[in-house]
Amino acid sequence: MNIGFFGGSFDPIHRGHLALANAARDAFALGRTHFVPTTTPPHKQKYALAPFADRYAMVALATASEKFFVPSLLEAPDAQPRENYTIDTIRRLKPALKKSDKLFVLIGIDAFKDIAKWREAEALFRECEFIVANRPGFSLADVANSLPEKLRPSAAVIKPFAKHSAIGDLVLPGVTVHLLDGVNEKVSATAIRDAVRAKKPLGKLVDPTVAEYIRKRELYKGR
Ligand code: ATP
Repeated sequence: MNIGFFGGSFDPIHRGHLALANAARDAFALGRTHFVPTTTPPHKQKYALAPFADRYAMVALATASEKFFVPSLLEAPDAQPRENYTIDTIRRLKPALKKSDKLFVLIGIDAFKDIAKWREAEALFRECEFIVANRPGFSLADVANSLPEKLRPSAAVIKPFAKHSAIGDLVLPGVTVHLLDGVNEKVSATAIRDAVRAKKPLGKLVDPTVAEYIRKRELYKGR
């Protein structure tokens, strides 16, 4: 079975996340996608995230009616402190998979641009294939230039890619990146938090159950 791994702060989960996961499921026949709310070490956070329990609850609500989407506790805070880099989480997930299962990391191109900085990035490319949701204006060269140095082709090889939009597949030794076209939801969690603070209606930016949860738990009011 093809299995998706979709990590994010999901603070909160919104229509853009669901659009990406739906498009990836349809294009790559993903039989299951794990939505993994992440825990970022406080020193790496740009702002205080909502508690893990709230972010997980919203992921569970937004995916409740989706048979193929699974809210994941893989990065739930544990009594035992542990590393929660994506490579660690994927290594925790893998033993539960069948030999015939194939793992795909789902990610937006904005986040993929930083992939070379991720812990053990090369190992991550060995462990799974990537499905990257592109956006207009990005070229195949942008995708190739984002790869960890050891996996990145030379500048001469990348140069002609600049003329190609980020569509199709990029297959190199140790790297398989599938570009996913047509995910065009202009929404971010930042915009949602700002809207809540400004007392603006969330409309269709989030699932109605998530909007109600934000209201009941009084999330995002003070930041
Ligand atoms: P924030 O505004 O707080 O930075 P975010 O909306 O980018 O949050 P994250 O939880 O950080 O949401 O993102 C998780 C993943 O979802 C990332 O790979 C990101 O690129 C992707 N993503 C976020 N928003 C969209 C969107 N509108 N369309 C497609 N992918 C998205």
